[in-house]
Amino acid sequence: MKKIKLWTILYIVATTVMLISCSQSTDMKALIVTGQNNHNWQKSSRNLKDIIEKSEFFTVEINVSPAQGEDMSEFIIDFNPYDVVVLDYNGDEWPEETKINFVQYVENGGGVVVYHASDNAFPDWPEYNEMIGLGGWGGRDENSGPYVYVEDWEVVRDDSPGGGGTHGAQREFLVEAFQPDHPIINGLPQKWMHAKDELYANMRGPAKNMEILAFAHSLKTGKNEPMLMTITYGEGRIFHTMLGHAGGGNFFPAMECTGFVTTTQRGAEWAATGKVTQEIPENFPTENETLSWPFFEDIHGDITPFVNQMEAYEIGQSNESFNIFKTLMRENLGDLEKMKEYHSVIIDLLESNKTTDDCKKILLKEFSWMATDSFREIYEKLKQNTALEEEAKYALERLGSH
Ligand code: ZN
Repeated sequence: MKKIKLWTILYIVATTVMLISCSQSTDMKALIVTGQNNHNWQKSSRNLKDIIEKSEFFTVEINVSPAQGEDMSEFIIDFNPYDVVVLDYNGDEWPEETKINFVQYVENGGGVVVYHASDNAFPDWPEYNEMIGLGGWGGRDENSGPYVYVEDWEVVRDDSPGGGGTHGAQREFLVEAFQPDHPIINGLPQKWMHAKDELYANMRGPAKNMEILAFAHSLKTGKNEPMLMTITYGEGRIFHTMLGHAGGGNFFPAMECTGFVTTTQRGAEWAATGKVTQEIPENFPTENETLSWPFFEDIHGDITPFVNQMEAYEIGQSNESFNIFKTLMRENLGDLEKMKEYHSVIIDLLESNKTTDDCKKILLKEFSWMATDSFREIYEKLKQNTALEEEAKYALERLGSH
């Protein structure tokens, strides 16, 4: 009798502990701060949200600042409700109150993820520069702190004068573990091929309480430049990733790389809790081959959702699906099979009664650059429709000039 009771109690205790620890991890909150950047923050913040949410540890909110040059005085953020703050921001100064709130949040143990060009921000805010460890551009020079790189497996701090921040042409490059036992990268391969990205180099900053987790070899500087770092500031933990450039277009290989996704997810958990409990994905880039994260791969592989959005498009709605479709076509111009498929999608949309006139107008105006003679018949037919006459004529003229 006594024995059973003890087991029952142990079982209840164990279950309760499991429940508490589960609910703690899935209930965590992340805040992405964005709204100004010399990058495509609209897309990068959405990708970051997907990436962090799919770790299933966080619910994610996005706070968008006023546009560059606009009044920032109302941009007040209380960071306290969040377990981790993800910075996708490179722009105008925050109001003093937000800056103070941020410093206090980190000092008191808040977690931060510094993503790519966020380390270009706030060159004159000392606390911020301590938090990011290393930064670039914005007039940074020897007064900002040393250059920091890895040589013969030693960290070098180089005080020589010069500007901070540069990168060569975008390319694929190897990321190599420097602290392979750190929870964020523990279990990842020693080296993996990162998808096409900018390799930030010659970054400089206070680099206090900073640990380099991984580096990459810059062809521009000839040095092993830090790519993934952790910094502690007060009680706070900061994960800094230099990776993940998001420029023009709709697809960002650097953000879609499984290596970027995994380290960002693990870095966010570590910044929030000091531990990493996520499993390493089964498939990971190797030393020779990059690998896209399956979630993004699915989006690109299946065009049905975009086609459905285009079909129902009405003026005033987001035209993102058209942009994605355009990018897909441009990227696959050399692939005749795929182009045939895309052509038939467009012809189907133009022929269907379910497709809105607003969608057809865009297809006639903006997609006639890739039309072939197979489009002539449907263009002629749409010319008879007074609502589409003007756009159909335009498309026919473009076709005629082929
Ligand atoms: Zn960039």
